Amino acid sequence: MKLLHSITELREARARIAPGTSVGFVPTMGYLHEGHLSLVAASKAACELTFVSIYVNPSQFGPNEDLASYPRDLERDLELLSTYGVDYVFFPSTEEIYPEGYKTWVEVSGISQRLCGASRPGHFRGVATIVLKLVNLVQPHSMFMGSKDFQQVLVLKTMLRDLNLQVNLVSCPIIREADGLAMSSRNSYLDSQQHQRALCLSSAIKAVQAAFRAGQRSVPALLEIAGETIGDRGRIDYLELVDPERLEPVTTVDDMSRLIMAVYIDKVRLIDNAALGEQL
Ligand code: AMP
Repeated sequence: MKLLHSITELREARARIAPGTSVGFVPTMGYLHEGHLSLVAASKAACELTFVSIYVNPSQFGPNEDLASYPRDLERDLELLSTYGVDYVFFPSTEEIYPEGYKTWVEVSGISQRLCGASRPGHFRGVATIVLKLVNLVQPHSMFMGSKDFQQVLVLKTMLRDLNLQVNLVSCPIIREADGLAMSSRNSYLDSQQHQRALCLSSAIKAVQAAFRAGQRSVPALLEIAGETIGDRGRIDYLELVDPERLEPVTTVDDMSRLIMAVYIDKVRLIDNAALGEQL
């Protein structure tokens, strides 16, 4: 596994890859868990070479968010990636990514403004900018991302399409703990009592899916079931039933309609989502 610290090293490594070799890319912020590793496995299954980036991107964090405390363990991450047979790991410094005088930002309008974008102004501008920079550097054929960040996938698909980038974005399933909690680096903030309360997100999804299977088609009734399941275990940031393409609230539901939510467990903000026709 080759470790690439700088943009120069990355460019040199990329230039040495024979044309026609399929390259997969998994961008991450590190503190890896099985969710990230499932993306690595998907890339390795589909592509001849796999690049992973580890970079906690400051521009996607708001001023009062957890940039400083975001969990980091580069040594452990590199060990895991090496075990998984990753070919290249890029872990740049912020001086490399945003040198003094940095001026350029990517804004995907519309879809970036709702849900997580409304609660975290500027978040998707930071995400789109870093992913465009990384895609330009790595030049992957395919990029593997988790549908835990369902809105992020749609924002980035829009960006790739609008900017004519020939990268195939593969959206992979959410990996969960045995108890249902969607894996996240931020779960490390939770103590065991908070972890128990955090199960309200996946429980809400399960309850709504069960009601849908039993024939419930009323949007207010389904949202009420979700809200009641969360109850006082968490504080809802948003909780919506949306269509899976534009993430607009729906008035009639089908199998593909998505329950999507962000919920605070004390100070820890967690997200989750699923289609009504799935079964967690
Ligand atoms: P992050 O390090 O949180 O920026 O996530 C890097 C990538 O891993 C993103 O594409 C996430 O959607 C994906 N990811 C994070 N958690 C999970 C999970 N539980 N299951 C599948 N993919 C995930």
